[in-house]
Amino acid sequence: MPAQAHLFLCLKDNYGVLLHDPGSGETAAIDAPEAAPIEAALRSTGWRLSDILVTHHHADHTGGIAELKARHRCRVVAPHGEAARIPLVDATVRENDKVRVGGLEANVLETPGHTAGHISYVFPSDKLAFVGDTLFSIGCGRVIEGTPEMMWQSLLKLRALPDDTRIYCGHEYTGANIRFAKTIEPENAALRAREAEVDKLLAARKPTIPSTLAEEKAANPFLRADVPEVAKSVGLAGSPAWKVFAEIRERKNRS
Ligand SMILES: [Zn+2]
Repeated sequence: MPAQAHLFLCLKDNYGVLLHDPGSGETAAIDAPEAAPIEAALRSTGWRLSDILVTHHHADHTGGIAELKARHRCRVVAPHGEAARIPLVDATVRENDKVRVGGLEANVLETPGHTAGHISYVFPSDKLAFVGDTLFSIGCGRVIEGTPEMMWQSLLKLRALPDDTRIYCGHEYTGANIRFAKTIEPENAALRAREAEVDKLLAARKPTIPSTLAEEKAANPFLRADVPEVAKSVGLAGSPAWKVFAEIRERKNRS
């Protein structure tokens, strides 16, 4: 049976998501920004929390862990490199490890850059990717603990997933990301199409995620640093892609 995902806002602009396996009844929270909205989502779905899959150590992804674990005795799975900075970890995982949630199985991808140990969880059978603060819709996370080259490699790893993979990211930043992306590729038709779609969703107070990887590859400038026109638009024609990426990221930081 296919996985069911339930998405909801936490804190100011974080996304919480529950991933449910109808076969076993097990349910994972991907990150735990805060306990109350996750509890509300569990009540409204009737699902039982079995696991918390943590992408990285930032407080707006881990702040709900202690309260949720006390109530549900769920397993906390965390990146190997950040376990010491995440509360109540039961299992640590590295690149290519498998994580089971009932009958569902995720591959762990190490996607460092935003933080040094950031991981993403990819469920290939259901074509779902939970990418935390590495990739956003039409954007990417700030490079805080890693280098731009490291972040670009992480984005390439995600870009290699199948085109119809649905991308669940950690924040609702899509509107601001599109405004910025238009400064890099004002003529990009896929970006304009995404803008029209996102305008409608935000006006209706609906989430803009998940998007598909195909949409991101076509419109997200941070995944397009190796496209010659993108390099040219930031004055770096012929430069290595990671340098183009670094320039786009720097411009976004200043925007
Ligand atoms: Zn973060």
